[in-house]
Amino acid sequence: MEKVIIIGSGPAGYTAALYSARANLSPLLFEGELSKDILPGGQLMTTTEVENYPGFPEGVTGPEMMELFKKQAERFGARIESKTITSVDFSKRPFTLVSGKETFQAKSIIIATGATAKYLGLPSEETYMNRGVSACATCDGALPRFRNKPLVVVGGGDTAMEEAIFLTNYASKVHIVHRRDKFRASKIMADRAIANPKIVCEWNSTVDEVLGDEKLGVTGVRLKDVNTGVTRDIECTGYFSAIGHKPNTDLFKGVLDMDETGYLVTKPGSTYTNIDGVFAAGDVQDRVYRQAITAAGSGCMAAIDCTRWLEANEHE
Ligand code: FAD
Ligand code: NDP
Repeated sequence: MEKVIIIGSGPAGYTAALYSARANLSPLLFEGELSKDILPGGQLMTTTEVENYPGFPEGVTGPEMMELFKKQAERFGARIESKTITSVDFSKRPFTLVSGKETFQAKSIIIATGATAKYLGLPSEETYMNRGVSACATCDGALPRFRNKPLVVVGGGDTAMEEAIFLTNYASKVHIVHRRDKFRASKIMADRAIANPKIVCEWNSTVDEVLGDEKLGVTGVRLKDVNTGVTRDIECTGYFSAIGHKPNTDLFKGVLDMDETGYLVTKPGSTYTNIDGVFAAGDVQDRVYRQAITAAGSGCMAAIDCTRWLEANEHE
């Protein structure tokens, strides 16, 4: 039986692994197996430069940073396995985790399953998925179909700004479609996007439909003015969804307390969930800050909370 199992391999999971390894808990971390929904290394694997993580004055790419996180956790004895947890039983201790046909038991659990990119839910997004529809400019932006062509990014947060700015390296023009008249993004990112000569802001607009055909994939989008309801089509060869993320908590439905949007609820100032011995860290329990540094910080908190909880419950 494991002392602690960590689920998730973003900044929160690796930091929890680093701290719990240094506390001699010999943690086992499941990083997830690459699939449509799972990205080992987490959200930063989809980004280029991370400029705001302290300690990297010249910046660092997301994948490079996650490789460093992983190495540092392994250096102190964290064991990392490429498995996705498919179900959990937290009704009794030791806790049970299932990955396919394998079962694992642990005295304590740290959940760091993060969040996943959202789409608008249009059938046309599905139709043209990977044929012009994407949620990752870093992964797909350099593809020939996007070069020197107009592209569309939907959303008004930091992700939308970052995706749009990145895409200007390839595109002839990038339309940012936002449903309000002000971006949610941090001022520095919004100002950078607005000042970019290749970026056009389509304010107060939503995407009604992604347009395309069988042969070419995406050829445009139909925009709808939220005030007048008037629609118009704009040409593009790519449509990038950047409207935020859904916490990866389906596994824990009916088991752990969640808020109305599915984020795990932790006790204020700690990483304790409603089940004793189960802790949550990172974006999976943070709808406010959702940054690498805050995820790493709460991973550290979870490892410390968990270590102390294990010490207090040694008799079990
Ligand atoms: P995540 O990074 O989401 O990692 C969750 C992990 O859990 C993944 O490894 C996944 O594979 C795994 N997982 C999920 N379910 C399971 C399961 N059932 N079994 C096993 N494993 C599972 N923040 C910044 O501070 N600076 C930036 O510049 C920045 N840029 C960003 C750019 C983009 C495009 C995006 C999307 C986000 C960016 N962020 C940035 C936010 C930052 O990436 C997140 O706040 C951070 O990654 C959250 O870390 P996390 O460990 O909580 O979760
Ligand atoms: P956010 O939740 O911050 O923003 C989502 C955006 O999409 C909002 O503008 C929202 O509109 C819009 N939106 C949501 N749903 C819909 C919908 N159904 N139709 C149309 N528009 C919709 O998510 P992000 O992914 O941008 O950012 C998440 C976190 O990651 C943030 O904390 C951010 O700071 C961080 N991050 C940091 C980066 C950096 O520092 N460089 C880079 C990328 C992300 P509305 O505003 O009207 O709600």
